Amino acid sequence: AKAAGRSTHYFFTDDLDKAVQESLLIESELRVALREYQFQLFYQPQIDLKTGKLFGFEALIRWNHPERGMVSPAIFIPVAEQSGLIVELGEWVLAEASMFIARLNHRYNENYTVAVNLSARQFKDKSVAKVIKSSIINARIKPEWLDIEITESMLMGDINEALHQLDDIKALGVQMSIDDFGTGYSSLSYLKKFPVDTLKVDRAFIKDIPDDTDDMAISDAIIALAHKLNMKVIAEGVETAEHVEFLVQNHCQIGQGYLFSQPIDEESLYKFIDNSTKP
Ligand code: C2E
Ligand code: CA
Ligand code: CA
Ligand code: CA
Repeated sequence: AKAAGRSTHYFFTDDLDKAVQESLLIESELRVALREYQFQLFYQPQIDLKTGKLFGFEALIRWNHPERGMVSPAIFIPVAEQSGLIVELGEWVLAEASMFIARLNHRYNENYTVAVNLSARQFKDKSVAKVIKSSIINARIKPEWLDIEITESMLMGDINEALHQLDDIKALGVQMSIDDFGTGYSSLSYLKKFPVDTLKVDRAFIKDIPDDTDDMAISDAIIALAHKLNMKVIAEGVETAEHVEFLVQNHCQIGQGYLFSQPIDEESLYKFIDNSTKP
């Protein structure tokens, strides 16, 4: 316990040590988890806001830890990034999601898209396009069923390098989305050069609608910008009927959020589809 009277300095070092130890522990547990298949993908539905029809899903990783229970990706993805384990983990995610897409679209004879998150480290990796390609080939899926999500911040820095990577990935025929749009500082003038199909409006701009008029102005502007550049828009964090109303009024086609469903496992997802398509 932290005794009273200790200087802030010690206090700080203690906490820092703890944080370092914690992340080293997570790192070694991540290695075990990869070997022992403790990871699982959950999928969150994306809904066409006008028709209510299912558009696709986003794959979100879950770590089912034998003692800790479900560990949030917000905790272990950063550790996986720092340690480099994200490359192996990311390959697993791509392979797993691709096999899921094959099962899903054959089961329903549909063309649902499934979005997969790429981490910054994966995106920088020169072989990422090859990795994506082998997932597609192994699972025998149409490339356009796969949607690769990168965040706006990955497009900052060396723009030409980023463009090169994007072009290599896009050449596979997959779809590409910019995640958390509006939270980074990428230059808008480059946006038209990026081979991107979809902008995802960050939850931060959606959550206080209709109370926050600034957020409404920003969301509206992002939607308009996307459409002018011939891109689709997906709003994240859709939680209320008011959110939907605002988004439909402002011509945002697709929404994703707890109003429709939390991320769910494959079995629950088939039930979700079966229930929503019942006559
Ligand atoms: P993200 O890509 O922005 O994913 C959206 C997050 O918002 C997910 O959290 C999702 O469960 C949550 N969410 C969805 N709808 C709502 C809503 O209506 N309200 C609220 N409050 N939250 C909502 P999750 O699954 O905990 O993932 C957190 C982050 O971890 C993701 O943010 C993404 O950056 C990262 N992540 C998840 N899976 C992967 C993965 O397979 N690879 C990589 N590289 N990163 C991943
Ligand atoms: Ca995402
Ligand atoms: Ca996001
Ligand atoms: Ca986010």
